[in-house]
Amino acid sequence: MKSAALCALLFTAGLLSAAESTMKTNASAPAADPAACKIDGPVSACGLPSNVVIDMSKARVQRTDAEWRARLSPTQYRVARQQGTEPPFKNEFWDNHTDGVYLCVGCDTPLFDSRHKFDSGTGWPSYWQPLEKIFVGETTDTSHGMTRVEVHCTVCGSHLGHVFDDGPKPTRLRYCINSASLRFLTRDAYTSWVKQRAGTDAAPAPSAKP
Ligand SMILES: [Zn+2]
Repeated sequence: MKSAALCALLFTAGLLSAAESTMKTNASAPAADPAACKIDGPVSACGLPSNVVIDMSKARVQRTDAEWRARLSPTQYRVARQQGTEPPFKNEFWDNHTDGVYLCVGCDTPLFDSRHKFDSGTGWPSYWQPLEKIFVGETTDTSHGMTRVEVHCTVCGSHLGHVFDDGPKPTRLRYCINSASLRFLTRDAYTSWVKQRAGTDAAPAPSAKP
């Protein structure tokens, strides 16, 4: 099957990410072609939305629903606070190759580093490890007849995406993350941001070294 047809089939089924896991472990399967996978209309990130219930009662950052809506754009709110999704190749950071750090859109905790980002071909930002695993919580997601591992920010509970075990070396992990859950700072901006925040209690101590 040609990749374009395969993509169309997968998108129609809404199972791109689940199927992709199989594709990447099957050498005879065609790789997803990003160009061929460009389509119109809503397509769920990382396969399908998550239906998991994240326990946010112990999260360090607590906001009322009104505060969340005031802080976030409608898309950010839908993705980060309602376990929503965004379309592949039509999100802010899937093709961002600038050196820098990705922060949680909900609480500014540094979550991912561009040095750990790779081109997965899925159309979503993909990383082979988080900056600090303690800030990326995992929940088993059995929605839509699949078993996936949902990932979220442990500081504020914002939904990030899913993690799969078909990533590159050295971890073999693929953190498939929604751009809407992230805020990007270039390396210089991040360094300045860290200096500004030094000595404050506004956010967890970031560990990404310039
Ligand atoms: Zn957060």
